[in-house]
Amino acid sequence: MNSDVAAPAIDSRKESYADMNDWLNVLVEKRIAKASAEGELLPPEMAWVAANEHQVYQKRFKPMVLFVLALCAYGIAQTTQPLALALVFVGFYFYIDFYSGVLHVVLDNPRFVKLPLIGVPCVEFQWHHTFPYDISTRRLLDVWGDLNVLLLVKSIFLFGICGFTTTTFMVAGVGYALGYANQFSHRMTHTAPGKRPKLATWLQQRRILLVPAIHHVHHNNHGVSFPVLNGHSRGLIQRMLGIVPNGYFWLALFVLLTAFDLVAAVWLLEYFCTA
Ligand SMILES: [Zn+2]
Ligand SMILES: [Zn+2]
Repeated sequence: MNSDVAAPAIDSRKESYADMNDWLNVLVEKRIAKASAEGELLPPEMAWVAANEHQVYQKRFKPMVLFVLALCAYGIAQTTQPLALALVFVGFYFYIDFYSGVLHVVLDNPRFVKLPLIGVPCVEFQWHHTFPYDISTRRLLDVWGDLNVLLLVKSIFLFGICGFTTTTFMVAGVGYALGYANQFSHRMTHTAPGKRPKLATWLQQRRILLVPAIHHVHHNNHGVSFPVLNGHSRGLIQRMLGIVPNGYFWLALFVLLTAFDLVAAVWLLEYFCTA
C-alpha cells in the first residue's frame, strides 16, 4: 500500500447525512483523530471508543418506543381511579427528576466506563459533554429509544413481581411517560430558543420543565446540576453527593431504584387504596 496516498478527508457537513446518528459518529471520529494528531491524552470515554471502534450514536429499535408509547396511553386510560392517577403523576414528577439525577451521577462517572453492563451506556452518556447538541439533533424516537434497555429491565421487575394488574399498568404508564418527558425536557434545554415549541418554552418559564440555564450549569461544571426533568431535586442530589461522594454508593442506589422503585409504588398504592 502506498503510504504517500493521503487518507480521504472525512466529510463532516451535516447536510451530507440523512441520519444524524451517522453525522454525529463522524464528529466523534474527527474528534478522536484530532486528539491523536495533537498527542492529547484522551479522557476515558474517548479512549474506550478509540480502542473499541464503537459507534457512540446508535439508531434505536423504534417498535419498542412505539410499544412503550402505546403502553403509556393504555396504562393511563384504563385506570378507574383518577385520584390515584393524579397522586402517582405528582409523585413521579418529583421522583423521576431525582432518579434522573442518580442515573446521571452514575453514568457520568469516568471510572465506570470499564464496568460490564453499564460501561457502554457510560461511554455514550459522557460523549454528550463533548457534543451537547447531540440530544437535540437526533430524532426524538432515537432519544426515547436510548431508554429501551432501561425500560425493558424495569418492566421485567415490575410486571414480574406485581403481575399484570390495573395498578401495575397505571404505574408503568405514568412512569414511562414521565421518563420520556425527562428525555424531551433535556432535549429542549439544548434546542435553540427559536426552534423550541412554544409549549416547551412556556413550561420552562414556569419551571415545570428544566430551565435551560440551570442545565447549562452542568455543562460548565460536570459535578453539579444533574437532574434533567425539572431540576427540582438538584439541591437534594448535591447534598447527598456532599455526604456520600463514593461512586459505588450511587451505583448501588441506581441499581436498587431501577429494580424496585415502580414495584414500591404499586405496593404503596395497593396498601393505601385497599386499607
Ligand atoms: Zn453530565
Ligand atoms: Zn445536557
